[in-house]
Amino acid sequence: MLVYITLLYSRVPPSCLPIVYHPDYNITFIGLEKLHPFDSGKWGKVIRFLKEDQFFTDRNIVEALEATEDDLLVVHTKRYLSRLKFLFERVEGVSRATIIDLDAHQGNGHERDFLNDQRVFIMDMFNRHIYPGDVHAKKAIKRRVELDWATEDSEYLQKVELHSEGALNEVRPDIIVYNAGTDVLDGDPLGGLSISPQGIIKRDELVFRAARRRGIPILMVTSGGYQKKTARIIADSILNLHQQGLIGPEGEGEGSAPMVTHMVGGAGSAGSAHTAV
Ligand SMILES: [Zn+2]
Repeated sequence: MLVYITLLYSRVPPSCLPIVYHPDYNITFIGLEKLHPFDSGKWGKVIRFLKEDQFFTDRNIVEALEATEDDLLVVHTKRYLSRLKFLFERVEGVSRATIIDLDAHQGNGHERDFLNDQRVFIMDMFNRHIYPGDVHAKKAIKRRVELDWATEDSEYLQKVELHSEGALNEVRPDIIVYNAGTDVLDGDPLGGLSISPQGIIKRDELVFRAARRRGIPILMVTSGGYQKKTARIIADSILNLHQQGLIGPEGEGEGSAPMVTHMVGGAGSAGSAHTAV
């Protein structure tokens, strides 16, 4: 039998913050990206802002390693691949996961991946009037919160708190995957909601608090939302989570669950299928 040694699970030095980033996350295409109204370089900007704010240096960031075909084939045949299934098989002690998907779009990618999979509890809160409106995928959602056009902070945050707490009370997972799409921001051309920058920062805090209170590790992916001001909001949210003691070295804050913030988005983050956002 061939044994393949994967490099994906290298030890993270204690000096690092739980933030994973790679410059390749930023989408560039011989300069044409500058003509596009979206901010395709937002992850690089988030990192730059956090450095300017002296939150960290290059030495504190965990550099993402790309999974090779061999890494993935260690786990299973190609047709069964999906990122979360990978997590189940490779990370010891993970047998149940909860996805909290707060991107403005229905997360039909991960929903189709986990239809009828009892290991995964999916909470999805999205604008009911926009893409994809995938009725079949909706059957995978255990807690569905459909929003109307131009939903504002007070209603939104009340629902985030009620349903994140409710989802985690219903089933206790070994890990939470949090899809923190910023396309809920007021003015987003695709999201159609009216959440303020402060509302997004508060939202992330509510989800992290719900996780921390229960001592459950959380993986946040930054996902959709490409207005020019998005990068600053994500950076401010990460700073706020740190100030509140919700990310940082183990043992800080109220509990001791390790928190990981993964600065990736777009196609396939958390299994989400929409590539346009
Ligand atoms: Zn989206």
